[in-house]
Amino acid sequence: MKLTILGAGTFFAGINQTASAYLLEASGLKILVDCGPGTLVRLSQIGVSVFDIDAVFITHFHPDHTSDLFPLFMNYRITDTLAKKKPTRFPQIFGPEGIYQYMLRYSRLSQLRSVEGWEKIKFTDIKSKQKLGDVKIEAFKVLHKAFNYKAKAYAYRFGYGGKVITFSGDAAKCPGIEKACKNADIFICDCSFPRGIKGPVHMNTEEIGQISQKNRVKKLLLTHFYPFYSPQILFKEVKENFSGETVIGRDLMKVPLEG
Ligand SMILES: [Zn+2]
Ligand SMILES: [Zn+2]
Repeated sequence: MKLTILGAGTFFAGINQTASAYLLEASGLKILVDCGPGTLVRLSQIGVSVFDIDAVFITHFHPDHTSDLFPLFMNYRITDTLAKKKPTRFPQIFGPEGIYQYMLRYSRLSQLRSVEGWEKIKFTDIKSKQKLGDVKIEAFKVLHKAFNYKAKAYAYRFGYGGKVITFSGDAAKCPGIEKACKNADIFICDCSFPRGIKGPVHMNTEEIGQISQKNRVKKLLLTHFYPFYSPQILFKEVKENFSGETVIGRDLMKVPLEG
């Protein structure tokens, strides 16, 4: 498996850090995990065409994880309508329950009713277990409640060639995130809150260190940074409870994993 971080940030976009998105290459497939603002630019920066994407897995509907999904869709929709050379294959989009309705509403609100009556791109509610090629994907419900509103949120665990990569999406401390990261070779974790901030939005650094240690994570990759908390300080706090390899994630960082 090969992982490229497309965006290690959140809503605060800049040249060096865009919102949540990852490219996972395994079993001959190109899979996007989340599709926040900046994803399409980052893909073009690494020379990957949007028309080469086989599947997209959305962790939850917050725009820092989804707002390039509609532009991605429109790349296909417009090319299929106008271009002489039309796309011959289309990505499958997986996400929380209601992903199709989400896109439909988005399309209507945008006054571009392009999702209706064109079904070449399929939107599928995530199942707890599924397979794409030889890649096994497991979805775990996680707690993620921001501004007093609970999101339908999932952590994903991708298994291929005996190796496992876990994506937390956005997760507060809960049983789901612990199951998802158990014995993971790489755990990509939203590391947004320093020690002392508790609650249902994100784990804090102390909790991240503790669950990673307890669940024997091999390599911890920290992402989803806000500009007002230093990643270096967050990293140090995580390390107080976690003895394994830990990396501060950056946009365009490539993380190979044999298997
Ligand atoms: Zn979120
Ligand atoms: Zn987020």
